Amino acid sequence: MIVYKFGGASVRSAEGIKNLASIVSGVKDNLFIVVSAMGKTTNALEGVLEDFMQANHSSALAKFQQIENYHNEILADLFPDVTDPSAFLQPLYDEIEDMIKQSVGDDYDRWYDKIVSYGEIISTQIVSKFLNVVGIRNRWLDMRKLLITDSNFREANVKMKESQQKLIEAADFEKFQVYIGQGFIGANAKGNPTTLGREGSDYSAAVVANLLNAESLTIWKDVPGILNADPRLYPQAKLVPELTYLEAVELAYSGAQVIHPKTIKPLQNKNIPLYVRPFGNPSEKGSVIKAHVEKPTGIPFYSLLKNQVLVTIRPIDFSFVLEENLPKVFSIISKHRLKVSMIESSAISISVAIGNSRYFPAALDELSNDFDVSYNEHLELLTVRGITDEIVQEVTNQREVLLMQRTRRIGRFLMKEI
Ligand code: ASP
Ligand code: MG
Repeated sequence: MIVYKFGGASVRSAEGIKNLASIVSGVKDNLFIVVSAMGKTTNALEGVLEDFMQANHSSALAKFQQIENYHNEILADLFPDVTDPSAFLQPLYDEIEDMIKQSVGDDYDRWYDKIVSYGEIISTQIVSKFLNVVGIRNRWLDMRKLLITDSNFREANVKMKESQQKLIEAADFEKFQVYIGQGFIGANAKGNPTTLGREGSDYSAAVVANLLNAESLTIWKDVPGILNADPRLYPQAKLVPELTYLEAVELAYSGAQVIHPKTIKPLQNKNIPLYVRPFGNPSEKGSVIKAHVEKPTGIPFYSLLKNQVLVTIRPIDFSFVLEENLPKVFSIISKHRLKVSMIESSAISISVAIGNSRYFPAALDELSNDFDVSYNEHLELLTVRGITDEIVQEVTNQREVLLMQRTRRIGRFLMKEI
């Protein structure tokens, strides 16, 4: 069997869903389809949640109404001959509205997962319905019952062993050749919905491929494949036809937005190739990521992490033994779920670049109890794999560089955003 994943951009319109159907109609293998929320629905649901958390129920409901309207318009386009094409979603809409009308929850992360996960529930219902109507017989699955995760709400990790049996039983290819499930969502052992982190549908698809021992995973995207740089930043970006898991991991962690960083490991563990192919041009091959490649391309890769903060931390007592303080610093950082992108230490201080987030102020407060802390915001971290002196010149030209690291292969530049 094989796994296909379609992201939010691919299914943001009726046209996109029809294109999905045409891609899927050519598949002869057993197929598991993982789908994200449509277009910008996840952002829109985050807006609903903000209002809900502040007990601003009428505004939350109004925002949710817009989300309904958006999906209903797509349904009207998909089913022009049906009188009330969104009727089948009404029970689901009612369920969500009832939830939004409730008194406020106080646990932001938990409510986030409960409410925001509906984006994928709605999108997969629509895709499954459409495929059935055009003759691609399929069964819809609720991943909140099949992917068991830890309780790390908003950034949950899938428990592979616990999920495997459930998924294998649910996706019985003797009964259906095509199954459709949501990306991005699961539930903890108690059945509380969880999400796997923004853009986490790729990770879901990789987990499904692993658990079902897929022959391959294909992620259909609105790009030609894996490029060596973001074409919005480097217009000379080139397609990389083949790369290794290791290269892909490095790329993903250093900010190349092409695949979610957690995607590779479940695939690598079972040696499952990952194809990244252009949704708009399905006859093109795109890129493949696998264990070994025939000819390494040798071209440099550029990736950029935006919205970084450089935090410099010094023990208040000027103690020179940094090792004693390191565990404390990193336990605070990890407790506040901050992501470290670069580390630099000297005898009396340590500097870390981290992704700015809503948790940053709280972490700063806690660090300030024991340390002198200073920080710089509005930075970006450029990573270049395959660094040369010329590239260093080129990328730092006329830029304010706060921190630079270079190994034989990799150069990293923390710079002021422009
Ligand atoms: N819908 C989620 C998001 O927008 C997950 C995904 O698209 O991968 O972050
Ligand atoms: Mg998306």
